[in-house]
Amino acid sequence: MITIKSEREIALLKQAGNIVYKTHQYLKPYIKEGMTTLELDHLAEEFIRKNDATPSFKGYNGFPGSICTSINDEVVHGIPDNRKLKNGDIISIDIGACYKGYHGDSAWTYAVGEIDEEKKYLMEHTEKALYQGLEVIKPGSRIGDIGNKIETYAHQHNLGVVLELCGHGVGTKLHESPDVPNYGVAGSGPKLKEGMVLAVEPMLNIGSPDIYMLENDWTIVTEDSRPSAHYEHTVVVTKDGYQILTGE
Ligand code: MG
Ligand code: MG
Repeated sequence: MITIKSEREIALLKQAGNIVYKTHQYLKPYIKEGMTTLELDHLAEEFIRKNDATPSFKGYNGFPGSICTSINDEVVHGIPDNRKLKNGDIISIDIGACYKGYHGDSAWTYAVGEIDEEKKYLMEHTEKALYQGLEVIKPGSRIGDIGNKIETYAHQHNLGVVLELCGHGVGTKLHESPDVPNYGVAGSGPKLKEGMVLAVEPMLNIGSPDIYMLENDWTIVTEDSRPSAHYEHTVVVTKDGYQILTGE
């Protein structure tokens, strides 16, 4: 069942989302050569807790980190550890925060120092694919419209769409109904209604869309070891469109 959030709930989701946004902004200056992903994780957790929230991912199905840190060919669910960031890396940071029982969820890909043209291209067009998907959100649109826009845009730009992972509803649970795939047929799937809250999150690869899971049972990497990017916002469907909750 897809829940419709009340005004009170949307206000709390907005606060949770804003904490996620602020955590991203807080981390930005620390995303540089020599930092470890575990240091980023600790900074994020401390910041989230200072804002009276808890990291949504910590302990989620046993996930060991407070945030997900996925470097280069890692698509999602990278586990923070003692690896140091290197000049030329890209890192996707996925952050979830729970405030008074409501979650916010947003991922962003960042450059470490100077990155090559291919990675710049991947980042630019994965971010644009996210906004392409968001653009169609309004009451009466369908879930398939979102995925169709993302998939069409990705293919126009020769990027591989990860099919096995998708966006989702957000509320008192981090992952709620419905699934929001990054592919689909326009006009298909559940109809959007005012008050629905969705996380839209394209994961695009510079090469093949194929992925596999590492032996740590969490981290998803690209089959061809080429880079992947991930951009995600949590949004609420409004009367005539949508509002980003994981923004300012
Ligand atoms: Mg996320
Ligand atoms: Mg998500």
